[in-house]
Amino acid sequence: MYNAQMIKLGSERSVIREIFEYGNARAAQIGRENVFDFSIGNPNVPAPESVTQELKRLIDEMPPEKLHGYTSAAGLAEVRSAVADYLVRTFGAPMRSDLIYMTCGAAASLIISFSALAEEGDEFVVVAPYFPEYAVFIRAAGGIVRTAYAGEDFHLDMASLDAAIGPRTKAVVINSPNNPSGAVYSAEELSALADLLRRKSAERGAPVFLISDEPYRELVYDCDVPYVANFYDDTIICYSFSKSLSLPGERIGYVAVSARCKDAEQLFAAVCGAGRFHGFVCAPALFQRVIAANLGKSSDVAVYRGNRDILYAGLTRAGFSCVMPEGAFYLFMRAPGGDAAAFCERAKRYELLLVPSDSFGVEGYVRISYCVSRETIERSLPAFAALAKEYFRR
Ligand code: PLP
Repeated sequence: MYNAQMIKLGSERSVIREIFEYGNARAAQIGRENVFDFSIGNPNVPAPESVTQELKRLIDEMPPEKLHGYTSAAGLAEVRSAVADYLVRTFGAPMRSDLIYMTCGAAASLIISFSALAEEGDEFVVVAPYFPEYAVFIRAAGGIVRTAYAGEDFHLDMASLDAAIGPRTKAVVINSPNNPSGAVYSAEELSALADLLRRKSAERGAPVFLISDEPYRELVYDCDVPYVANFYDDTIICYSFSKSLSLPGERIGYVAVSARCKDAEQLFAAVCGAGRFHGFVCAPALFQRVIAANLGKSSDVAVYRGNRDILYAGLTRAGFSCVMPEGAFYLFMRAPGGDAAAFCERAKRYELLLVPSDSFGVEGYVRISYCVSRETIERSLPAFAALAKEYFRR
């Protein structure tokens, strides 16, 4: 009687949400300050003051019927121009305002991009560990998910990508800075990936597109985030302001089709069609205007950097094995004993709430979201140390 696929999606156990709810229940019992909830990627750093100011200015100065009215499906012309100008000015990127489509965040950017590209039998390659919703969106768009694996350091492994990309591959999805590993791909590895994709496109006789999912672009600590569209022509950027400006509940982002894509205008028409197909009438009008005045800004990254440093130092001192995250606000740690779910259960005894890696497409790790207060990190370290003692003889 109802759509079975939707019932399955709607009732599937969301591991992260379950942990988050467990944390809330536990906080009611023993006090919020005694629960170390590292489950969810909700930015804890406030949006920059300039966001609040622009919001106030717009509310004070613009007639409400104009401020809250529909915009064109692709977004306000002046906002699309501001985004394209920013990308050209900052990265020298091959972007044009008529190829920018404003969206309700990266999630919408992704489903629109997959839907714009997917034809019967098309495959999409994701790099594990990966954001779990990729698989949901690719399947919803009618695509088939193929998995490549990152190397030990969570950077791109060209051999694995080479093996995963076949004659039916329509696109490869990358995410840098990465959720859940914190890896940031270097110019060298993006060049190598571009070479591989050019070779695969030639073999296939049609482009293998590169979809670059970039909600964490500005959240980076010790390195640059090279602009992916400058490395490879057939690139679609899926951007979001959810994390960079700490606005996840406001649902604002964009799709940028590189002007160098094969038949870019036709691809953009497919992007518009996909937005229509999914019922995205337009991105939130108020926040289109807000982000146009805040391009290139970010919440205070130093807070995340401090959290990362303290957490990494504490975990490695306790004996845990982890790769230093270069960006985003996640640390992906090896689960001692190899069974991530069992390790997470044991961590709960110390009120440490971690996410097992299985839903990210790999086994044997846990994700720790460090977008939490500094105090939570500091107070959690003795609990991590006690947990480590159960696994490591010192
Ligand atoms: N892509 C990645 C890698 C993410 O981590 C997230 C959210 O956590 C998204 C996309 C979705 O972001 P948005 O809130 O902008 O839809």
